[in-house]
Amino acid sequence: MIPIHSVTSDEYPNQETNPINSHEHRPDKPEEACGVFGIYAPEADVAKMTYFGLYALQHRGQESAGIATFEGATVHLHKDMGLVSQVFNEAVLEHLQGNLAIGHTRYSTTGSSRKDNAQPAVVETRLGSLALAHNGNLVNTLQLREELVKTNVSLVTTTDSEMIAFAIAEAVNAGADWLEGSIQAFHRCEGAFSLVLGTPAGVMGVRDPNGIRPLVIGTLPGNPIRYVLASETCGLDIIGAEYLRDVEPGELVWITEAGLASYHWSQKPERKLCIFEMIYFARPDSIMHNESLYTYRMRLGRRIAAESAVDADIVFGVPDSGIPAAIGFSQASGVPYAEGLIKNRYVGRTFIQPTQSMRETGIRMKLNPLKDVLVGKRVIIVDDSIVRGTTSRKLVKALREAGATEVHMRISSPPVTHPCFYGIDTDSQDHLIAATKSVAEIAAQLEVDSLAYLSWEGMLEATQEDTNSFCSACFTGDYPVAIPEQVKRSKLILEKVVV
Ligand code: SF4
Repeated sequence: MIPIHSVTSDEYPNQETNPINSHEHRPDKPEEACGVFGIYAPEADVAKMTYFGLYALQHRGQESAGIATFEGATVHLHKDMGLVSQVFNEAVLEHLQGNLAIGHTRYSTTGSSRKDNAQPAVVETRLGSLALAHNGNLVNTLQLREELVKTNVSLVTTTDSEMIAFAIAEAVNAGADWLEGSIQAFHRCEGAFSLVLGTPAGVMGVRDPNGIRPLVIGTLPGNPIRYVLASETCGLDIIGAEYLRDVEPGELVWITEAGLASYHWSQKPERKLCIFEMIYFARPDSIMHNESLYTYRMRLGRRIAAESAVDADIVFGVPDSGIPAAIGFSQASGVPYAEGLIKNRYVGRTFIQPTQSMRETGIRMKLNPLKDVLVGKRVIIVDDSIVRGTTSRKLVKALREAGATEVHMRISSPPVTHPCFYGIDTDSQDHLIAATKSVAEIAAQLEVDSLAYLSWEGMLEATQEDTNSFCSACFTGDYPVAIPEQVKRSKLILEKVVV
């Protein structure tokens, strides 16, 4: 058997070390897993196009970024910690020659934040190198890991993504071609996986049988037509690619010189798109179900205005994600829309701790209240979700200090009561404020005059799609892919009590 080993970017020349180090933090917003991008276009500068695609997908992961290109059988790889604009420059991109490329922006969900865990993951097989970029999270990682270790695979990283690559390599080395080998491997994977894979022969795009994470196909104008894959349509727009369609749940698309071929590899596809992609994660200008998410989010705002009206002088959203829902709320309720908070767009994730006195001023590094808009006003503030509630509490305090006489909070999603196991960091259940507190108790903790969440029905009906075609497990605990007990215990307080 051919030994399988993983290739790290250190094995390739022209690496520049990024000074940004890994860090621990606990999110007060659900954190997105990753963004993926793939392109087959021998006549184009595939590395540069992937760079721009990743640039548009930066909101999906800010910890590391990477691009792998294939120049015939040779793979060029560059990945490092940091933002896309920090990891790549002209000289690095110049080195990444090839006919096809895949790229990745990462936020760590499985495996800690370190350079080895950055993607694409590259492994060697009897058919040449395989590069893989993954958005999502497997729930049977432990089992898969045990199986792979038994066959003498030496795992370099701690990510589930590398294990998918190894599972494919194992099948390929046992005699399968790229397609058969990949399909065999996908049948061993449970959970959420939207993947792009690069091989010397072509680019592959894959979604798990539930299509939990998004993945779209675009075309580049010209003859022959060339194909692009991206987590969201905003990754197509930036390079002038035209949206063609989604990769379907349980579908594999194989993009080569011959064009695009489609294979339905799963016998039981059942669409369960993550509803949080629509509420918050994906960019508002991305298209899902034939409309921008901005439009969907405005509809959420209109719906919550109908469900939980309140008398006030102005309504505004928490920038940026709460703004479309606040506009919808204003349209439906007649309460004038205003800008009550200004966001500093250049903060990013700082690695320098603020001073104690700065910390006491709360959230103002990121959001600053507009005093003359707020003073003497009864305000409605609209946000997309509350995870732990710590930021919301500081925000309410800051609005009162700026002169607001009443603060009413409206949330354009239901209470988050359960953790996500499919690639979103919603924290463990014991840190989710709505897991242990009633809405009235949360309102008291946040010190708001009133608090209302959107109903679960309202959130799903506003999609104007089949309401069964979404995962909404973090609001209900009804997980579409069964979570093994061992994995569940790590995040659920209920199980912790039983243990
Ligand atoms: S549990 Fe929540 S965040 Fe996770 S995939 Fe389902 S809807 Fe999305």
